Amino acid sequence: MAAITLKNIVKSYDKTQVVKGIDLEIDDGEFVVLVGPSGCGKSTTLRMIAGLEQPTSGDIIIGDRVVNNIEPQNRNIAMVFQNYALYPHKSVKENIVFALRRLKVDNDEIERRLSEISEMLQLEELLERKPADLSGGQRQRVAMGRAIIREADVFLFDEPLSNLDSKLRSHMRTEIGKIHNKFGRTSVYVTHDQVEAMTLADKVVVLHDGYIAQSGTPMEIYLNP
Ligand code: ADP
Ligand code: ADP
Repeated sequence: MAAITLKNIVKSYDKTQVVKGIDLEIDDGEFVVLVGPSGCGKSTTLRMIAGLEQPTSGDIIIGDRVVNNIEPQNRNIAMVFQNYALYPHKSVKENIVFALRRLKVDNDEIERRLSEISEMLQLEELLERKPADLSGGQRQRVAMGRAIIREADVFLFDEPLSNLDSKLRSHMRTEIGKIHNKFGRTSVYVTHDQVEAMTLADKVVVLHDGYIAQSGTPMEIYLNP
């Protein structure tokens, strides 16, 4: 059974179709990278999987549930955004554990996961700081930690590295690959960066003007055009 299935997904704003009938099956544990020119519908597609946008028609299935009418917080997904979307008034620690507190995970378990994740992402020294006092790379690590700690079945990434300088970008790319290898969660990752697609993807899906133009392994997409 596929972890995520998109069945003939269409999305229109007013009368304009921006996603024009996407069919896609993503296997359990697979890392899928959505690429394509600006405006081709990558972000909209990801946001529909997350539940932040509703498809105009078609079904989104996560596991064995049609999730079209299920709220984002009940979809068992975790999302990392380009602009981090951290709570400015909360400390790093409170940003990371916020969702777990809301889910009433017990404190010992929260502390256990927090210490594992802050070690992995080198956040131990930063836990009491506020987002405003962090560098871009540090903020992105906090955003990653906040997503990972939920232990959701599905990770969604919307251009998570595009605000970082090239050195940090390459470091974080490696980290994301390691995290995927460690946790093996089904991931959908939007980027326009070919290197990210090449290094991270099991499968690259190329969107063009709201359609899937091509899909295959990075080798198939980039080395045998
Ligand atoms: P990408 O992520 O590939 O750059 P998007 O999915 O963000 O593309 O956008 C696809 C198209 O949909 C673009 O033409 C964009 O302007 C349009 N679009 C996205 N969100 C909205 C919205 N809320 N209202 C109207 N048009 C939108
Ligand atoms: P991204 O950087 O992920 O492509 P954008 O900056 O394109 O995102 O869009 C940010 C927000 O603005 C999203 O909520 C998107 O739906 C909305 N948006 C994008 N394009 C339009 C548009 N043409 N009209 C209205 N809202 C839009």
